[in-house]
Amino acid sequence: MEYLFDTHTHSDYSHDGVPPLETAVLAAVNKGMKYLAVTDHCDKDCAVLPGLDWVRQIDLVSRKREMTALKRKYADRIVLADGLEYGYAPEADALYLQVEKEYPSDYVINSVHVVEGVDIYMREFFDARTKKQAYTAYLEAVRASVDAPYGYDAIGHLGYIARKATYPDKRLLYEDYADLVDEILKAVVEKGKALEINTASKGTKCDLYHDPTIIKRYKSLGGELVTIGSDAHDPSRFCDDFENAAAVLVSCGFRYAFVYENHVPKAVALDK
Ligand SMILES: [Zn+2]
Ligand SMILES: [Zn+2]
Repeated sequence: MEYLFDTHTHSDYSHDGVPPLETAVLAAVNKGMKYLAVTDHCDKDCAVLPGLDWVRQIDLVSRKREMTALKRKYADRIVLADGLEYGYAPEADALYLQVEKEYPSDYVINSVHVVEGVDIYMREFFDARTKKQAYTAYLEAVRASVDAPYGYDAIGHLGYIARKATYPDKRLLYEDYADLVDEILKAVVEKGKALEINTASKGTKCDLYHDPTIIKRYKSLGGELVTIGSDAHDPSRFCDDFENAAAVLVSCGFRYAFVYENHVPKAVALDK
């Protein structure tokens, strides 16, 4: 079946996104999609931590104005969710509390991009650490992000570190970090948050759904809320590889993925 929803996409309100917001919405409509969450980067982590001010900050005022107008304009064609992807750092908690108050959204992904003050997009993070050190520090940051005091909905791209790592074997294997991964998954379940299956690293095959041990573990710990997101920075990747991601979820015992409107999860059948 075709999957016609995407919970993780970027527009040019993100420092690294391509399409103007309306172009993204039109692309989704033309593809026949029923739901699109545009989750632009809100990187307050980079605003508060030293050395990361090269990351352009999002213009939340203009974006809110345009998003509100587009929701209205396309209401009969698509559910457009006003989403944001927060870059987690404990130092930015107060700023995100302020953002959620001033710019209420439909859906927030809480993602770890910065670990021990370094953007893990950068090679230097890996050069300075063994794989064990790097992955442990990353997972500890994700564990802390689950306890963030603001109202997010899903934990973004668990395992993202493997996308950029420079080690010969990049895989984040459950058995190597079982205690820490269990702590994360238990906290996600306990707090009623969702685990995101992110398809952006399909080429590396180093993610949750190419080795679904972690997804199965989440399920066995009581996890029900899962989202699927392409993390597309260009509309050509909307819903990319969702068939495979959905098939893996079904094989792990999930019958539904979820999309969010006004922070309320709505079930989408995976196996009809
Ligand atoms: Zn991200
Ligand atoms: Zn993203």
